[in-house]
Amino acid sequence: MRSIEEFTRPLEYVTPLDKVLGDLVKSWAENEVMPVRRQFDEDWERHEIILPAFKKLMAEYGLQRAPFPEDLGGMGLGRSDATCVAVFRVFEHIARADSGMGLAFGAHIWPMEFITFKPHENRRLCEEFAPIFCDTTRPVFAAMVMTEPQGGSDIENVEIIKGSTLQTTAVREGDEWVINGHKLWASNTGGLAELMAVYCTTNPGSEDLNDFAVIFVPSNTPGVTHGKPYEKAGMATDMNSDVWFEDVRVPVWYRAIGPGEDAKWVGEIMSTGNMGIIAWYVGSMMNIYERLQEFLEPRKYRGRPLKEDDGVAGALADFASTIEALRILGYQSARMLDRQDLYGERWKPKAVAKARAHRYFAADKSLEAVGKVMNLMEAYGADRDWDVEKHWRDLKIIQLVEGSKQLCQIEVARWFFECETL
Ligand SMILES: Cc1cc2nc3c(=O)[nH]c(=O)nc-3n(C[C@H](O)[C@H](O)[C@H](O)COP(=O)(O)OP(=O)(O)OC[C@H]3O[C@@H](n4cnc5c(N)ncnc54)[C@H](O)[C@@H]3O)c2cc1C
Repeated sequence: MRSIEEFTRPLEYVTPLDKVLGDLVKSWAENEVMPVRRQFDEDWERHEIILPAFKKLMAEYGLQRAPFPEDLGGMGLGRSDATCVAVFRVFEHIARADSGMGLAFGAHIWPMEFITFKPHENRRLCEEFAPIFCDTTRPVFAAMVMTEPQGGSDIENVEIIKGSTLQTTAVREGDEWVINGHKLWASNTGGLAELMAVYCTTNPGSEDLNDFAVIFVPSNTPGVTHGKPYEKAGMATDMNSDVWFEDVRVPVWYRAIGPGEDAKWVGEIMSTGNMGIIAWYVGSMMNIYERLQEFLEPRKYRGRPLKEDDGVAGALADFASTIEALRILGYQSARMLDRQDLYGERWKPKAVAKARAHRYFAADKSLEAVGKVMNLMEAYGADRDWDVEKHWRDLKIIQLVEGSKQLCQIEVARWFFECETL
C-alpha cells in the first residue's frame, strides 16, 4: 500500500530539523498513541491514559521546551526562520494519531509565542517561565485564555472590535496587576495548564489598543479557579473548562509585551494559529486515507475489487485530491508565515486574512470529504474500530476553534473586498 508520504509537501522548504522532528513524532504517534487512542473518549475527565502519551512527547522528547531559547534549556524555536514549517510537520503527525492532542500541544506552544518569538522575545519572562517547562520530567502545559461568556469571536477580532468587549479586567495597583474575570473553553484548562496567557482590558469598553493586555498568570496563583472539564463530542485529549479570576495578583512585568504591542502581536497568534489548524486537518485526513486503504483491500463488489468500480474510484480520487491539495496549501501557508521578508509580517491583517482563508477552506473541504468516505464505508464508517468516525467528530470540532467560520469569512472578505465590517 502507498504511504501517506505520497501526498506532496514542498520539499524545497524542508530543513534538517524537519526530518528529525517528523520521524520522532511519527514513531511516537504510531507507538504511544494509536494503540490506545480508542480509549481516549472515556478518559476525557481524568486523562489517565492520555497523560502518559503526552509525557513522552512533551517531557521525555522535550517538545514542551521547544519555544524557549537554547541557553534557557529550550530548542530555540521562537528564534528560528523555519518555525512554522517545522510546527506544521509536528502537528500533522500528532493529528494523524489524534487531532485533540495536536490542539492541546498547539495550545501549549501558542501563548509562548508572545514571549519567545523574535522580534518581541521577552527575555525576563523567558527566564521566569522556562524552568517550569524545561527543568522537569513531567508534561507541563500552558493555555491561551481568551474566550469569555459573552463571545469569543469578538475578542479575537482585534482589528475591528479592539478588545472593547473584554470583561476580564486588569487593574494596576503598585507593582501588581489585579485581575478579575471569567473565561471559558481555553484548551488545557480544567486543572491541566500551569501557566496561562490571559486576555484582559485595563479600561473596560475602551477601543484604545494600549488597553488590551495579555498577562501571564500561573494557575497556582491565589484567586484562580479552574472548573471541571467539559464533555465534548470528541477531542477528549484537549481539556477545556471555565476559569475564574478573583482578585488575582501578579507582578506588572507579567504583561506579555506591553501597551499596544500585546494587541498587535495577537495578529501573529491568529495567523500562526490558523495555519496550525490546517495541519490538524491534513494529519487526520492522512490517517483516514490509511484506514480507507485497509478497508478497501478485501472488499468486493459483484466479484471484483470494490475500488475498481468506476463510481468508487471517482470518490477515492476526489478524496486523494483533497488531501493532496490541502497538504500543499498547508505547507505553503506555513512557509508564507516563515518568509515574512517575502509575504509580509505575520501580525498584519493581510497575513491573518490569508491564514483564515486557507484554514476555513481546509475545514470545509475536509468535512465534505470525510463525510463521503463514511458513505463509502457505510456501517464501518460509524464503527469505532475503524477510527474514521473519531476523526469525523474531531474535524467538526476543529472548525469551532479559534474564532468561528463567520469570523474567518468576515476577515477574508474584509481583506480581499475591502469590506469595512460596518
Ligand atoms: C475544542 C475547542 C478548543 C478551544 N480552545 C480555546 C482556547 O485555547 N482558548 C480560548 O480562549 N478559546 C478556545 N475555544 C473557544 C473558541 O475560540 C470559541 O468558541 C470561538 O472563538 C467562538 O466563540 P464563541 O463560542 O463564544 O461564539 P461567538 O463568538 O459568541 O459566536 C456565536 C455565533 O455568532 C457568530 N458570529 C460571531 N461573530 C460574528 C460576526 N462578527 N458576524 C457574524 N457572525 C458572527 C458565530 O459564527 C457563531 O455562529 C475553544 C473551543 C473549542 C470548541
